[in-house]
Amino acid sequence: MKKHNFSAGPCILPQEVLQKASEAVLNFNNDNLSLLEISHRSKPFVNVMENARSLAIELLGLEGKGYKALFLQGGASMQFLMCAYNLLDKKAAYLNTGTWSDKAIKEAKLLGEVVEVGSSKDQGFTYIPKGYEIPSDVNYFHCTSNNTIFGTQMKSFPETDVPMICDMSSDIFSRQLDFSKFDLIYAGAQKNMGPAGTTLIVIKEDVLGKVNRAIPSMLDYKVHLSKDSMFNTPAVFPIYVSMLTLEWLKNLGGIPAIEKINEQKAALLYTEIDRNPLFKGFVATEDRSNMNATFALTNESLKETFESMLTEAGINGLNGHRSVGGYRASMYNALPLESVQVLVNVMQSLEKKAY
Ligand SMILES: *Cc1c(COP(=O)(O)O)cnc(C)c1O
Repeated sequence: MKKHNFSAGPCILPQEVLQKASEAVLNFNNDNLSLLEISHRSKPFVNVMENARSLAIELLGLEGKGYKALFLQGGASMQFLMCAYNLLDKKAAYLNTGTWSDKAIKEAKLLGEVVEVGSSKDQGFTYIPKGYEIPSDVNYFHCTSNNTIFGTQMKSFPETDVPMICDMSSDIFSRQLDFSKFDLIYAGAQKNMGPAGTTLIVIKEDVLGKVNRAIPSMLDYKVHLSKDSMFNTPAVFPIYVSMLTLEWLKNLGGIPAIEKINEQKAALLYTEIDRNPLFKGFVATEDRSNMNATFALTNESLKETFESMLTEAGINGLNGHRSVGGYRASMYNALPLESVQVLVNVMQSLEKKAY
């Protein structure tokens, strides 16, 4: 039986997606060739790319609003640099909410001045800063919608006239937002969309072309847009699997449908963390992530017992990030509610055992 997979990334994908993906590796499109051995310029793969790009725009509700999607390589980490290369002329504003924001800031500083408008570093990134001001003379504001490592999530976004860039790697397609508030969204596939190896970039074309520097071709969004995301050989397999996952999500009812399930999963687990005296959460209640729930045992001597119970229940990937410790339950779109119920059952059994 398949394990209950709470891995933070790479992570769970829908079982039917894995099934279809494995079939395409052997015989794609009934052409008696593998998806992995055909040209990316062949009609069947060009269709995959077009379908993946348009599904992303459709699911985010951005059709007809001037946005285009790209599937590039280099991970979300490459986007830390690439967004600055293309949009940072002199000065940009960043909200520092964790390790990933910190890394984005480090790259942006190579290309211009960075104003850190807010930071929760002083308290170990356990909350989302609020009430910060975004200067009007910056090229853009950059934020991280969900902090995969610490388990916090931005529940609202600032009102500002400057372009907004958001790293949505770990919560894209998980909840309804007005995505048209953002001028550039990027997300590594391996958290909520597909396998590692490709990164989705959703960009409003009119924010480009405003910096003075020369941009290397591979880092230039305009070059990739002009080649329909095929400037160089794209990551064919990760893009195909991402397309299948987006189709799966569309058939399920899109973001409104998955958001309901995600809210149920998060409510089930957080209610237990708050109720059960053996567990405590790490972060400010109002900022808790619906994707990555971080928590710890209140009594470390139960660690071995708890972890052997987790193994016995078929639970995988619950260890916290090495920089935080404790536990992290990642509840991405493909994780069924039943898996969270199994985890909650183990937490309750531990309580019965301990008292
Ligand atoms: C995982 C993650 C990244 C890094 O992604 P890579 O694809 O490994 O570069 C960046 N930002 C967030 C929010 C993440 O969760």
